[in-house]
Amino acid sequence: MSSTRDSKALPGDKLAVVEEFLLGKNVYEQSGSVRALLVGKVKVDQSKGEISVYPVKIARTPALGDLVTGQVEAVQTSSAGIRIYYINGKPTDQGFSGMLLMRGEPGGRGARRRTYVKLGDIVRASVSSTLNGIIQLSIDNERTGVVFAKCSNCGRPLTRGGSYRAKCDECGNVEERKFANDFGQFPIQP
Ligand SMILES: [Zn+2]
Repeated sequence: MSSTRDSKALPGDKLAVVEEFLLGKNVYEQSGSVRALLVGKVKVDQSKGEISVYPVKIARTPALGDLVTGQVEAVQTSSAGIRIYYINGKPTDQGFSGMLLMRGEPGGRGARRRTYVKLGDIVRASVSSTLNGIIQLSIDNERTGVVFAKCSNCGRPLTRGGSYRAKCDECGNVEERKFANDFGQFPIQP
């Protein structure tokens, strides 16, 4: 990866205009501007024409009870893989992945399965176990859950919502997630 811009970015900082670059990691588009989603270093991948933000390093393993913030990189039926970018508010790029278990709704077979997270969402979660080296995450309390999500219909960032629903300002689409209680506040508090 080549890099021309090695500057530091804070969440919401304008990095470029959309005509200049494709959206890479940890950036989003708002009104024609490419903005940083996280605190980190701005990197440009010239071969792909992408601009990204990468968190700066700390060397620490997530431990039981830590609050971590990261991005949903895989979703299965009852679990989701979270790429961890922050541990207790401090950035890490050690490549930790956590497993978020999504319990089904009570009611047994035929009960509708709630959507807790979707691919690409930014989620704050607590570490509920590190048994066998697996970082198990939970979003059971009000402080934890999705802190940033985009509309599945039009791709705009969602800006407001309740505990389990958010309505897109742009297209009116109603999105279901398990939101953290500070969802919609900006900048995001990792
Ligand atoms: Zn929308």
